[in-house]
Amino acid sequence: MVGRFLLLLATLLALTLPARAQDFSALARYEPERSAITQQGGQTEITLGISQPVIYRVFLLAAPYRLVVDFREVNFGTSTPQELLGGADAITNLRWGAFRPGWSRMVAELDGPVQLVSSEERTEGETEIRIKLEPVPVEKFTPRKGAADSALWDLPQPAQVSNAHRRQDGARPLVVVLDPGHGGIDPGAEDGGTREADIVLGFARQLRDQLRRAGMTVVMTRDQDVFVPLETRVTVARAAGADLFVSLHADSIAEGQASGSSIYRLSDHAEDDATRKLVARHDRDDILAGVDLDGQGDQVAHVLVDLARRETQPRSLRLSQVLAGAIKGAGLHMHKHPVQGADFSVLKSPDIPSVLIELGFLSSPADRKRLQDPDWRARMAAAITRGIESWAQSDAAEAKLLRQ
Ligand SMILES: [Zn+2]
Repeated sequence: MVGRFLLLLATLLALTLPARAQDFSALARYEPERSAITQQGGQTEITLGISQPVIYRVFLLAAPYRLVVDFREVNFGTSTPQELLGGADAITNLRWGAFRPGWSRMVAELDGPVQLVSSEERTEGETEIRIKLEPVPVEKFTPRKGAADSALWDLPQPAQVSNAHRRQDGARPLVVVLDPGHGGIDPGAEDGGTREADIVLGFARQLRDQLRRAGMTVVMTRDQDVFVPLETRVTVARAAGADLFVSLHADSIAEGQASGSSIYRLSDHAEDDATRKLVARHDRDDILAGVDLDGQGDQVAHVLVDLARRETQPRSLRLSQVLAGAIKGAGLHMHKHPVQGADFSVLKSPDIPSVLIELGFLSSPADRKRLQDPDWRARMAAAITRGIESWAQSDAAEAKLLRQ
């Protein structure tokens, strides 16, 4: 009963307090030695020891079955979810980390439908959060509905953002949206002690400064180590009135010896197996971070989207070719297929030319070294800036021609 009251209170507080960047100070610490996952009589109990009480909320999501716990500021430090997970079979995967500024999230992927038996925060003595789950038949599973994820975070909602956007013709500063991949609960690729999320954020800040010096307006989908759902990244671009969208990644590829930079624009499917896996991994990272894709997909919108894409796709292709030319022209190492098509979710804005740049592959030791080399980074940022400038000029000229 107390647990239920606390949960209700936690939820109410969570919904009334907007997340703000300056609140991100991780007040409570996760304490691994007082934490455990135990299974008894078919029930699974998650106990999380924390250094002080926090506001939190718990909910379930479907497809795949997940338990999501959002906390107001819990610092997990260097503890890994794998240590806590141990051998609990009801939980197939566990992740945690920063979610939005001021908020941390834990996501447990479950091996089937469950119900929340109880959820409570004990505050007498040492603080702990205890969550008890038990398996239920599919028809009894009640996932959280609606925009639970986005309602809380002060980011634009897809429905609030208009689609009307005038194509750039050089008359005003170009609006570039930079999208450093991953972040927070989703670290992206991890190789040789390096996290993709950190590498691409550092590079994006450098590129942003260069683009601004070149007179462009730059908006970043994230400027901190926080999680941003793939759909939100596209929404941020639309809200900013982006003239182009550039997603930055440095993934790992398990198979073969991939190295060098490559640029992706949207196509119906990836051209090779390694890229297909890369696309799938990014969508899966999003799901494992607790994004709810239930109830998406609007048939009417589909037709409009296809129409808009017919104009945007050649512009995206041209952008990827010009960028590849600029990078090659700067003498920087490129992948053997420098321009490729793939169905990355962040490339799906129907009316904003969009590309995804794999700066290099963290799985390649040579690329890893380059990605951390200040000189290489400066040259790469300069090459991308030149590429965007040159694309914008020819794109503006084309826009004027079309209008006549
Ligand atoms: Zn990535």
